[in-house]
Amino acid sequence: MDESTNSPAPAGVRVPEVAARDEAPRPPGKSVFSVQDLGVHYGAAQAVKNVTLEIEAGAVTAFIGPSGCGKSTVLRCFDRLNDLIPGARVDGRILYHGTDLYGDDVDPVEVRRRVGMVFQKPNPFPKSIYDNVAFGPRVLGMKVKMDDVVEQSLRRAALWDEVGKRLKENALGLSGGQAQRLCIARALATQPDVLLMDEPASALDPISTARIEDLIGDLKGDYSIIIVTHNMQQAARVADKTAFYSVEVNEESGHRTGVLVEYDRTDTIFTNPSDQRTEDYVTGRFG
Ligand code: ADP
Repeated sequence: MDESTNSPAPAGVRVPEVAARDEAPRPPGKSVFSVQDLGVHYGAAQAVKNVTLEIEAGAVTAFIGPSGCGKSTVLRCFDRLNDLIPGARVDGRILYHGTDLYGDDVDPVEVRRRVGMVFQKPNPFPKSIYDNVAFGPRVLGMKVKMDDVVEQSLRRAALWDEVGKRLKENALGLSGGQAQRLCIARALATQPDVLLMDEPASALDPISTARIEDLIGDLKGDYSIIIVTHNMQQAARVADKTAFYSVEVNEESGHRTGVLVEYDRTDTIFTNPSDQRTEDYVTGRFG
């Protein structure tokens, strides 16, 4: 990085906008999720423990770390998908805009309307492009102008120009990258304020991956985005904040439990981490 961007510009010198933006510290934003001592068991086995962090509203947050350290498990807690896994138990608290996400009066279906999920493998339904996007609002009985919702969602997912004239075609005919953007449009159709993405580009070619990353940049601000990724360069490119998870091994039992090691601004995680385990991972010495 050009060190001169750290110094004030001499009078009359125009600092390039992008450099100025890179150097400006983000003011601490509001939290969309406040995670307090979260832990998840599958049966008797504890998959992840002691996770405490604030997810900033309107920002992109990346979860990185070696396979099996609990990234997807934590991600699934934000839309209560672990509720659907027999034997899974969630301890601790997650506040969503200040409300206990696991409170007795909270309807998990409403949670999943507001908190959309995009999976690793694009999974369009064997239906038309239109019916894929309209699926969520229909199932939820949302009183909306469906044509408008379908168009807006596809535009927001940067897919309208490619499919706007063939909405009746089967979605299974789309390319992998288009199918993934369709899944994003489908998630947006229920008007969520959070998008969870579990390795959304790992099954895609480099060009489709770049389009998904551009789209993430375009959606942030309007949506809070949490992305699990194995690709550290991707985290560095798209995320404002990054959480690094690792695995602790119990010496007696050999049991492996995921822990949150460090959570900070992405540039700090990658250039000046405070924990040796983070440094070893981001420099490729481990994992
Ligand atoms: P990561 O996303 O970091 O690769 P996961 O959250 O997928 O990690 O997994 C964390 C741990 O939880 C692993 O030991 C994994 O085997 C276990 N696990 C994940 N999902 C399930 C499940 N549905 N049932 C039982 N164990 C699971």
